[in-house]
Amino acid sequence: MKVLVLSPHTDDSELGAGGTVSRLKREGHEIFYVAFSSCDESLPSSKQGMLKKEFEQVMELVDPTEYYLLDYTVRRFNERRQDVLDDLIMIRNEIQPDIVIGPSLDDFHQDHIVVANEMIRAFKTVSSIITYELPWNHVNFETEMFYKLTESDISRKIEQLSMYESQIEEKNRLYFRDEYISGLASVRGVQCNSHYAEAFSVVRWSQ
Ligand SMILES: [Zn+2]
Repeated sequence: MKVLVLSPHTDDSELGAGGTVSRLKREGHEIFYVAFSSCDESLPSSKQGMLKKEFEQVMELVDPTEYYLLDYTVRRFNERRQDVLDDLIMIRNEIQPDIVIGPSLDDFHQDHIVVANEMIRAFKTVSSIITYELPWNHVNFETEMFYKLTESDISRKIEQLSMYESQIEEKNRLYFRDEYISGLASVRGVQCNSHYAEAFSVVRWSQ
């Protein structure tokens, strides 16, 4: 199965679906990654390019078949909505993914919702689409699907996220803490009789 993972900013899909991507890779599926922005504008001038380097390190760990890092400006995706759609259509035609994992339609981050909407426009008739959970961005999130995960999947997720020093040291993001990552995975695991899991909303499912 070909799996396309969409990340508005470099760390989003690792936070929302890093354990599931680890499982899918472990099971032999082909993984493709697209990140739309390395968010240089949100970093101090002395740290320009830091998120790009961190993302490249994470990609070495994830080891996808292919990954793309695009150059959209953080918080301004809406000004280039049609470009986002055009990029997704080009990637769709090239990869023909069976399943797309992307941001939620219930995600209130201004860039995430642009990617969520254009993802559905681009893939709604050709791929299954599920969306990941980033609890700090939701008012509501429907947990319709669970991927059961092992301890090693969660360890790999924690390892991936530990690469984002810019977010941990510079920004002190609470959702990069190990106890948050394993805690949420435990909660989602309890809901599906597994030690760990990640939850998803289902937009389209066709097999
Ligand atoms: Zn983001």
